[in-house]
Amino acid sequence: MRGEARPTRARISLDALRHNYRVLRASASDARVMAVIKGDGYGHGLERVARTLMPEAECFAVSGVDEARPIRAAGATQPVVLLGGFFSADEIPLHAREAFQPVIHSHWQVEALAAAGHHEPLDIWIKVDSGMHRLGFLPDEVAGVHRRLSALPGIREIGFLTHLAEADDRDSPRTPEQLRTFEQACAGLPGPRSAANSAGTLGWPAAHCDWVRPGISLYGATPFVDQGRARPDLRPVMTLESGLISVKQLPAGAPIGYGSTWRCPEAMPVGVAAIGYGDGYPRHAPSGTPLLVDGVETQLLGRVSMDLITVDLRPCPQARPGARVVLWGDGLPAETVADRAGTIAYELFCQVTPRAPRQVVESQPRT
Ligand SMILES: *Cc1c(COP(=O)(O)O)cnc(C)c1O
Repeated sequence: MRGEARPTRARISLDALRHNYRVLRASASDARVMAVIKGDGYGHGLERVARTLMPEAECFAVSGVDEARPIRAAGATQPVVLLGGFFSADEIPLHAREAFQPVIHSHWQVEALAAAGHHEPLDIWIKVDSGMHRLGFLPDEVAGVHRRLSALPGIREIGFLTHLAEADDRDSPRTPEQLRTFEQACAGLPGPRSAANSAGTLGWPAAHCDWVRPGISLYGATPFVDQGRARPDLRPVMTLESGLISVKQLPAGAPIGYGSTWRCPEAMPVGVAAIGYGDGYPRHAPSGTPLLVDGVETQLLGRVSMDLITVDLRPCPQARPGARVVLWGDGLPAETVADRAGTIAYELFCQVTPRAPRQVVESQPRT
């Protein structure tokens, strides 16, 4: 066994993060890049991600001031876009002072800006609902909202931003429809445009506009549903790993774990690794979900416990307690695991708990 502490950790490769940023930068060379680092940098650590990308990123995007302030405190001088805008009018002077750029998505926010007292000049984005029907103004409201906001003395630049609902499906007709609706909604109005998430950045050049907004791809997960097709050159930033703490030989028919949901079809070696849903490994991952033991691909057996999982050691019968177990990352894409667990890599990353300490590695071998 390796030392006294639990061997569970999320290794974070800053090299991989920088590499992915450059891949995205190059694939949208016609646009500028807003690095999306909301949700604690998709579970990778907000300030860590911001500091790593600070020398290169042209802009950061987060959900609100609670995530924007630590980025400024860490020394970022670039603009920070707040994708949720402000949650109350009290925030407006702070946004202006700190060069935060709120996304204005609702009429109550327009009224709050109109009612705000004197503040330093503020750059804002108007969110256009081009068909996703989540946040934003409907297309026929956009010109009116722009007119109202551009007449306010505290407002400097106004950009236009929309979000794509199906860019992860490279065959979906919704994306060109949304882009057309977006373009028409802000036709003739001055100001930068932004439409592309990761899938838009890597798969839809027509969506690049002035600013692309990649998130998940920065962390190395491919954003497309058709993962086999033309996989972009992205490297996993997070490797979730643990170790075997027990190995034993079980007889044919032996049931495994809570609910006895899996039975050994033959006499076989079975291992237990020190990781579970208490660390953020998905409890719904079924038997058969891939994982690596000492670099060899094998599978999860039975239900995931809070602190433990059980693994099939038939492909690696030489594995002993202390063997390294990789749940996703280096050598095993998070999106493959997510697919088996009925979720997406975004959720896997965000759910890794503080009990799995983030361990920074500057460089990591290529997979
Ligand atoms: C999260 C988010 C993004 C990034 O999306 P990815 O799919 O992670 O690349 C872009 N724009 C908005 C408005 C978002 O909320």
